[in-house]
Amino acid sequence: MDRPADAGKGAAATPTGEPWLLTPGPLTTSPSVKTAMQHDFGSRDHHLIDINARMRKRLVDIIHGGGSYVCVPLQGSGTFVVEAMIGTFVPQSGRILILVNGAYGQRIARICDYLDRDKIVLERPENMAIDPAELDAALAGDPAITHVAVIHCETTTGILNPIEQVAQITAAHGRSLLIDAMSAFGAIEIDARRIKFDAIVASSNKCLEATPGLGFCLARTEALEKTKGNSHSLALDLYDQWRAMEGNGQWRFTPPVHTILSFDQALREFEAEGGVTGRGKRYSENCRTLTDGMKKLGFQPLLPAELQAPIIVTFQTPSDPRFEFQAFYDSLRKKGYIIYPGKLTVADTFRIGCIGALGKEQIEGALAAVAEALDELGIADCTPAAA
Ligand SMILES: *Cc1c(COP(=O)(O)O)cnc(C)c1O
Repeated sequence: MDRPADAGKGAAATPTGEPWLLTPGPLTTSPSVKTAMQHDFGSRDHHLIDINARMRKRLVDIIHGGGSYVCVPLQGSGTFVVEAMIGTFVPQSGRILILVNGAYGQRIARICDYLDRDKIVLERPENMAIDPAELDAALAGDPAITHVAVIHCETTTGILNPIEQVAQITAAHGRSLLIDAMSAFGAIEIDARRIKFDAIVASSNKCLEATPGLGFCLARTEALEKTKGNSHSLALDLYDQWRAMEGNGQWRFTPPVHTILSFDQALREFEAEGGVTGRGKRYSENCRTLTDGMKKLGFQPLLPAELQAPIIVTFQTPSDPRFEFQAFYDSLRKKGYIIYPGKLTVADTFRIGCIGALGKEQIEGALAAVAEALDELGIADCTPAAA
């Protein structure tokens, strides 16, 4: 395959010629995951039905949920399945408390506005984790709250939220917990035998490293059984999707065939790497190499190490006026690496991801490219502006 026309001479590139994606999705997939897509199957083909059943079972196994949880996959990007989870689990008479410390928590609040679900937002600054004590007080003070929603790794900053404590408190108050684990699922352990929740959602294209196009909800069967009639939307009704798929093994509407095929291969590679433990280890090494290297170049990460998930790292923008994100981005792209702008209100930042089919060699390549880009832009000092 041809390299992008604007890739520089000698640019690092993936085996198929594109730049490495150091972003939180879409992200770089392995050549074998891409190759797995080169087949066409009809919806009723028994190959596809078998692969789909296998995919659903393996996803339940990742949370050790066999016997009590089922997997309901859904067409679309991650947000589609987040919206489907809210609309399916929260009845129109319910009230949901949303724990917000970034853009993805805010997105759930917006979804509730669209769906006309009664909501309460408990907000923390983007550089601070969710506070379990605040949740405890809010639930104690409002018995009308039926559901709690939380983001596992808030990708806005890369912060890790204390999901176990949130689950404990929510269960102690007898409310239902819904988790958006999009950017953590497959790299950070969630064990349904130890943590109580009614639904968790993630997608094909983050830590599981398949191509984009499919999300999935792992739902506690007893809770899902009670959601009939809740959804305002046919396409996003997880109850209906589940019942139909249990009935004939097929998707209700055109299945994302090629993503299912890539996901099947990606799950094989995930298991070969040692599952959550193996994948988490590679990403943690990526994260450490990246953070140490950027610090050596003078950059400051936004978060202290104990709040940082090994998924994506937010760096503060240098105060030097010659540092301009677009020029920095363009220079890195020419060298074969794509980074991500910041999404913060508290500080001027940019982000570099640790996830996808890449390892130490690519992170070190990216660090060398950052050093060259700084030279080109004439920046000697990467100290951020004082907060
Ligand atoms: C990526 C992500 C989503 C979904 O985003 P899409 O762009 O719709 O795939 C939702 N929540 C979190 C925490 C994410 O990181």
